[in-house]
Amino acid sequence: MTLHIPFDNTYARLPTSMQSAQAPTPVAAPSLIAFNGNLAQELGITGTDDAQMAQYFAGNALPSGAAPLAQLYAGHQFGQYNPQLGDGRAVLLGEVVDQSGLRRDIQLKGSGPTPYSRRGDGRSWLGPVLREYVVSEAMHALGVPTTRALAATRTGEDVIRDRPLPGGVLTRVAQSHIRVGTFQVFAAQRNIAALQTLYDYTVERHYPQAKDPSDLLQMVIDKQAALIPHWMSFGFIHGVMNTDNCTLSGETIDYGPCAFMDGFDAHAVFSSIDRRGRYAYSAQADIIVWNMAQLATSLVLLMPDTDAAIDQFTSQINAMPELVRSHWLTRFAAKIGISAPTPDDVALVTDLLSLMHNAQVDFTNTFRDLAKGTARDQFTDRPAFDSWSARWHTRIEAEQDPKALMMASNPAFIPRNHRIEQMIDDAVAGDDTAFHRLNSVLSTPYDEQPDAADLMAPPQPNEVVKATFCGT
Ligand code: AMP
Ligand code: MG
Repeated sequence: MTLHIPFDNTYARLPTSMQSAQAPTPVAAPSLIAFNGNLAQELGITGTDDAQMAQYFAGNALPSGAAPLAQLYAGHQFGQYNPQLGDGRAVLLGEVVDQSGLRRDIQLKGSGPTPYSRRGDGRSWLGPVLREYVVSEAMHALGVPTTRALAATRTGEDVIRDRPLPGGVLTRVAQSHIRVGTFQVFAAQRNIAALQTLYDYTVERHYPQAKDPSDLLQMVIDKQAALIPHWMSFGFIHGVMNTDNCTLSGETIDYGPCAFMDGFDAHAVFSSIDRRGRYAYSAQADIIVWNMAQLATSLVLLMPDTDAAIDQFTSQINAMPELVRSHWLTRFAAKIGISAPTPDDVALVTDLLSLMHNAQVDFTNTFRDLAKGTARDQFTDRPAFDSWSARWHTRIEAEQDPKALMMASNPAFIPRNHRIEQMIDDAVAGDDTAFHRLNSVLSTPYDEQPDAADLMAPPQPNEVVKATFCGT
């Protein structure tokens, strides 16, 4: 038996100005850490024994039908335009059409140098591989649109960072890897033919209803305006919302220096490279509008009447903050049991968040405890909480089943930073028990799991993670 992936590749047929054929570079001694059987089934992939799968998912052997390539893209990194990024440490093996008819990319990440590696080694160490595996699968289980993790391997080679660290390869699955930066690169090059080809490809693959670039822009705006409040409703901070890490499909991508907050802080920043807080927790709602403006700027070049297009796109971008606010209200209202919020409910939510911010209470546990009726204990200013709670109870009297809505909107489990760090330390020492346990518990994050109470607890003072690092 051999690994079977039913490839049906399309990106490989696009012009070589948009992508370069590139095979993964073999590694010394691959071993399999994880293979996501449920996802494989969804994709029509049949596995084989671990030793063979390690060869394929570390890039030492190519599954039949693969046409590996590196994609070109650019992007604004912390507001600065970088004209050439691209897959510097990843290759797209190819695409499959899944059981529901959806086309999905299968990508190896950490698979060696490509024409776009610049000064990088094309590799990844084990930490970012396992972090992305756990966090992307946890996000999926929470219900957030995201890329998925199909497999993780050790390479049996060290990569050199600030010290030698064990290398790893992640197999990532995405609806596509088309980013805002994929449009930006051809717009900046004034390569209108490639821009048009990318536009046509994106419309056909993701938004067949779109009749023109303005429609496409609106559909992406709608997806992203829903996505970021969804993150925020779980206290998630992406950490590096550069335009190259912003997908056209509306999936979350690139789990580098990301973090879930423990104590609530509206201005929280974990990313060690985000020195000015550009991508702080609350700032995410604004920066996504900026990112969509960059997409609009690229799409303008496809419009016959530039002035009219600028007017049209500007009004679409200007309407986006209100759209984000509306999704935000829906998400946060659900967290307090309100199913159809009105603008009057904004104050109820923001007043609770102010109390939470002031008391620095645990974001996840406080919302979960609200659902269970035990949140009061978390607050230092009890009279203030009580007066908020009285307003809240009056408001939810008319709700059908506020508790069920809250239990379905407030997870018991998130991938806490300190647990991820501990899991990585263990894995570097050769013990994958914590990795497998995290995946298992986080696969049903809304269920009470008494055996996993330790994974619900916020960090002890000596366990607090203050900074997270990008995957490089
Ligand atoms: P990221 O911040 O992870 O989204 O990566 C930004 C860019 O840097 C992308 O073009 C990556 O492919 C590239 N990159 C990151 N790490 C490496 C590496 N170790 N080798 C080559 N390119 C890399
Ligand atoms: Mg990236």
